[in-house]
Amino acid sequence: MRARAVTFDAGQTLVELDTAMLVSRLVERGVEVAERALAGAQPAAWRRYEEAVTAGGHQAPWHLFMTSLLVGAGVAPTAATDLATWLWDQQPVRNLWRRPITGMFELAQELATAGTPVGIISNSEGRLAELIAEIGWAAPFAVIVDSGRLGVAKPARAIFEHAARALGVTPAEIVHVGDSRTADVEGARGAGMRAIWFGAAAHATGDDGVAAAVDAAAVRAALARWELIR
Ligand SMILES: [Mg+2]
Repeated sequence: MRARAVTFDAGQTLVELDTAMLVSRLVERGVEVAERALAGAQPAAWRRYEEAVTAGGHQAPWHLFMTSLLVGAGVAPTAATDLATWLWDQQPVRNLWRRPITGMFELAQELATAGTPVGIISNSEGRLAELIAEIGWAAPFAVIVDSGRLGVAKPARAIFEHAARALGVTPAEIVHVGDSRTADVEGARGAGMRAIWFGAAAHATGDDGVAAAVDAAAVRAALARWELIR
């Protein structure tokens, strides 16, 4: 079946952790961490996150990610645990995932302008639509499915099916783009969608319904192969 619609994950696909904002939030709590140290600690923290996502849930993986990140950047473990709890509580009002990833929103806009239904499917805190509006990128998205509102998180089939219904297409007509192999790639494939595995860790899986893309240009090329874009 021909692909007709595209959905995007949010965190680490459309937006990434704003490390400058995190530094300033930590200063509010009397903790000084260099932005460079946070950047260096991210790969290992994301590996911990991925392991935790496989085990299920969202708050626990997020907390584990943030604790690992802070410890990796030099914060003492007990303080890191408390700070992660505070930052999680702050997420609904001061979302740290707000730095646009180069070219991705522009790609979503290009698709929407060409008449392709575009949506977001995210494991988030229930206020993702507000965040996307706050950073000025709401226009391309016909649908924003936020697990914190729906009560179902990726990789569950139901969240992908919900997005398909909301976009007025079948799951088989959707290409989903996301950075998490478990939540996005396996989740979308389990729901009958095609998937583009996004980011530095992405690689070929041997499944011809999955493309790997390191950046927005590579996502665009994969969408062109599936005739979603010229
Ligand atoms: Mg993500």
